Amino acid sequence: MSLESRAAEFLDGFGLGHSVAIIYSGRFKPFNANVRKVGSRIVFSLSSSWRDVSEEITLGLVQNLLIRLLKLKAGRTLNIDLYNNFARSIQSASPRTSTDAELESCFNRVNGAYFSGLLDMPNFEWHSSIRRLASYNHYTDTVSVSDLFRGMPELLDYLMYHELLHKKLKFSGSSGRALHHGKKFRLLEHSFKDAGVIEKRIDSVLRRRRF
Ligand SMILES: [Zn+2]
Repeated sequence: MSLESRAAEFLDGFGLGHSVAIIYSGRFKPFNANVRKVGSRIVFSLSSSWRDVSEEITLGLVQNLLIRLLKLKAGRTLNIDLYNNFARSIQSASPRTSTDAELESCFNRVNGAYFSGLLDMPNFEWHSSIRRLASYNHYTDTVSVSDLFRGMPELLDYLMYHELLHKKLKFSGSSGRALHHGKKFRLLEHSFKDAGVIEKRIDSVLRRRRF
């Protein structure tokens, strides 16, 4: 059975009759993936690096994305467990390929102050979009920060802290689903010193930039 029909079969179990298409793309970063709904059709775009991965694991990725996309009330499956283990192993094995002195010292400050120095150093990069302040890609273990914040260590520390919480909490969900900005996340986020003040300063940097 193809991956598409196994995904359709998974949906069948929820009484959903969507057709499923899976497209591999070489333009994605390794192990990136996304899913969208086009009418009654569900289209997955997967980085071509998924081609070399066992279908049992890829099916776990697909199920995971379906659960999130369609907000299915599903427990974990064997495939989702396999996928989570795989994602964890590539995260710890992913080589550090890019770095940046300013983000590296920012990481060292935040890791020391909030994580007892226990987090492994991820990759770092700057991006130029102002719509996305910062992000964490757990497949490539990369923290990316908008270059609007260069030279603003206090704001950078707060953005870095947020992304490192994603790195730390990514696999702590008991349902096997990735935690995003859940209750635990928000509580931890606001334990950052002067979080409220810093959020206001970030807003004013963005406002200045927009006008
Ligand atoms: Zn976030």
